[in-house]
Amino acid sequence: MSDNCLFCKIVSGTVATQRIYEDDGVLAFPDIAPQAPVHVLVIPKRHIASLDALSEADRDEMGHLLERTAHVARLLGVHEAGYRTIINTHSHGGQMVFHLHCHILGGKPIGAMVSR
Ligand code: 5GP
Ligand code: ZN
Repeated sequence: MSDNCLFCKIVSGTVATQRIYEDDGVLAFPDIAPQAPVHVLVIPKRHIASLDALSEADRDEMGHLLERTAHVARLLGVHEAGYRTIINTHSHGGQMVFHLHCHILGGKPIGAMVSR
């Protein structure tokens, strides 16, 4: 847990959210400003600032995050039509919250490229 991290506060329950899925390692919750009919964030419960902060020691945890992201997409019912997963990293990547998170976007065709 990192002080002053919004997503750590969501993990601890200090900031309320709908907990779509959780286990010991990950939490999935709706994005507060959805960019598609389905827009969910899947995060490691442990504070990791960004994809750039990963090291070899994090491989199992990140494998779990990715596999559970696919599981959450199935729970949301977007798996057959398909969905977009996005991880934004640092300034040029458009990262605004510095706790690693994987976006799931679906419920409509998302398009070939992400537009901002
Ligand atoms: P980033 O640009 O860092 O990849 O995405 C951060 C995401 O977090 C944004 O899509 C934004 O809408 C979402 N977000 C920001 N604050 C909150 C919040 O308090 N609750 C939830 N559920 N999502 C948030
Ligand atoms: Zn955090």
